This record gives sequence, structure tokens and C-alpha cells, in this order.
Amino acid sequence: MIKIHVGTDREYDILIEKGLLKDCGALTAAVKAPCRAMLCCDETVASLYGEPVRASYEEAGYQTALFTFAPGERSKNMGTLTRLLEAMGAAELDRGGLLVALGGGVAGDLGGLAAALYRRGIDYLQIPTTVLAGVDSSVGGKTAVDLACGKNMAGAFWQPILVLCDPETFETLPPETYAGGMAEVVKYGMIFGGRPWELPPAEMVAACCRHKRDVVEADEKEGSRRMLLNFGHTIGHAVELASDYTVPHGQAVAIGMAAMARAAEGQGLAPAGSARELEAVLTGLGLPIATGIPTDAVKAAARADKKRGAAGITIVIYDRLMKITMEQLDQMIEEGLA
Ligand code: NAD
Ligand code: MG
Repeated sequence: MIKIHVGTDREYDILIEKGLLKDCGALTAAVKAPCRAMLCCDETVASLYGEPVRASYEEAGYQTALFTFAPGERSKNMGTLTRLLEAMGAAELDRGGLLVALGGGVAGDLGGLAAALYRRGIDYLQIPTTVLAGVDSSVGGKTAVDLACGKNMAGAFWQPILVLCDPETFETLPPETYAGGMAEVVKYGMIFGGRPWELPPAEMVAACCRHKRDVVEADEKEGSRRMLLNFGHTIGHAVELASDYTVPHGQAVAIGMAAMARAAEGQGLAPAGSARELEAVLTGLGLPIATGIPTDAVKAAARADKKRGAAGITIVIYDRLMKITMEQLDQMIEEGLA
């Protein structure tokens, strides 16, 4: 079993092993005595893994209740959050209760926020079942729901007490969801070096989690170091927004990384041939490197990006941060997506 320690204000371990899911109850009991536990997952994940996970917790002595919601980003809202909080109340979780967020980033963000709010904060743990959740969203303690005014607009920093990742669960992912998570894996490789996408699943998750751990430890609240993890995300977010979210996040990040790589190379900010190399990796993983969305629409969406400061925007070129004006970003989008 691979164990990664995260030394944020509230310390915890990430445990990664194929087949670990069946032992999640016992592994949790090692850090938190059996109590009332609310299992939070979407309906797809519930039908695949809900019963074995619940049985494992019951066997370890926890009294479990199950909360499910319709799969997808649309469920990551205040309505679902309220229903979850009420379900926790109905299940009589007290301040010593536990929330188990099982599934992708939606279950993690929603469940984590419910844990942060319920009775002013209870313990929770993450059991990621998507590549994206395993390598990204389950680490770092960011929780949120979406509001009508934007994605992740209501949230909290709330660290889990444990993260349990069983890469065997990735085997049931739809190909597009699997590939989307791999875009974040490529991102880590481009920022920190190495080729994590070529590793076996458990080692791949571990390599990415170590990078994210190092960044969040150095910079627990959003700051300059954490911004490195936005490689591909400035243009990626704009593509997502301009497509009205029909291009999924991972695929948009792949397009964003490729566009940034091409623009940076074109402006002499990255070595010759580097964009081609990245494109080959992304294509090999079944990810897109271009979009049919007009560049003007992408530019307009980029101007609405929440990370924009008054003076301009900080972009990421592989492992470097660069402050540029919105006009310079327009030019990079133009060059990168032409
Ligand atoms: P998701 O949770 O919606 O999961 C994607 C789809 O995969 C869903 O339909 C789900 O039912 C299905 N699924 C999950 N596990 C499965 C499995 N093992 N087998 C078969 N199907 C399975 O989405 P996601 O891509 O995991 O996460 C995206 C969310 O994560 C977004 O809301 C994003 O904002 C958030 N996020 C949060 C952070 C953070 O730091 N908190 C970081 C990145 C992304
Ligand atoms: Mg991302």
C-alpha cells in the first residue's frame, strides 16, 4: 500500500492500493473510532460501489446511512447540499459523526462542504473513484457547490481525515471520463517533469498526489504556488465556458495546455518542438488538442475568468508563472487556437 502524508493544518494520509475498497471500514477505523456515518455518492457510483463500501463500514462497527444524488455537475448545488445536510440530521449524526464522500469530484466537493457546515464541521473522508478525483480534487481541502452566478462560488477549505484511493474503480469509468482525468495527470508531468501517465495506476495516482501535496502544504490557501496547477486552465476554462460546458473539464484543459504550448513556443517562451511533444501525449491518451469554437468566443470567456486581477492575468507556461495583460492573453489565444 502506498501512503502519502499531507501536512496541512489538519494532517491526514492518502492511502492508495488496488482492491483497498473492500477494507475501507477497517482503514477508517484506524483513524476514527466507529460512529454514525453518512455515505454520500451519486446514483451511478452507488450502484457500482455503494453496497460493498457500506458493508465494509458496517463490519467495522459504523452505523451507516446512504445519501445519493443524480450524477453530474448539475447536482453540485445548494439544493442537493441542503438535502444532504437534512439527511445527516435525520440520520442523527452528532458532532462526532462522519461523512464519507465516495465517487468523483462532485461527491467530494459536495460531501466535503456538507461536512464543513454540518454542526459547524464534522470529520469526513474522501474515497475517489474517478482519475480526476484521485489525482486532483480529493487532495487539498477545497470544497464547494456551484451557484447561478458561477462554478464553485460557495465553498470552504475543509481537510479530510483520510483519503482512500482504489485505482481498480477506474476500470468502470466511461472512456471519456477516464481520458478527462488523464489530462490532469499530463498537467502534473508538464509542470513537474516525468511521465506519470505511463505509470501503473496506483503509482500514477501517488506521483500526482505527491505533487499536489507539496503545493498545498507550501500554500494551503490559494496563492502563487498553487497557481502553477492552473497550467492549461486559463484557456481551458474559457473553452469550457464558451462551449456552454459541452466540452468536459479535462478535455478543455487538454485543449488549453496544447494552445498555451503552441502560443508559448511561437513567442519563443518555450523550446522548439515542445508543443508537438505535448500534442502527441494528449492525442495518444484520446484527448483533443484543438476546438472548433471561434477564438473570439474563447477570448470573451477568458475575460470573464475569475482569476483575472485588475492589472491583467497570471498565466502558466509549464513550470513558470507569467503576468500578462488581457491583450497579450488575447494574442496567445489567437495564436494557440488558430
Ligand atoms: P463526477 O464526480 O461527476 O464524476 C464523473 C462521472 O463519472 C459521473 O457521471 C459519475 O457517476 C461517474 N463515475 C464516478 N466514478 C465512477 C466509476 N468508478 N465508474 C463508473 N462511473 C463513475 O466528476 P469528476 O470528473 O470526478 O469531478 C469533477 C468535479 O470535481 C467538478 O465539479 C470540479 O469542480 C471538481 N473539482 C474539484 C477540485 C477540488 O480541488 N476540490 C479540483 C478539481 C475538480
Ligand atoms: Mg482541473
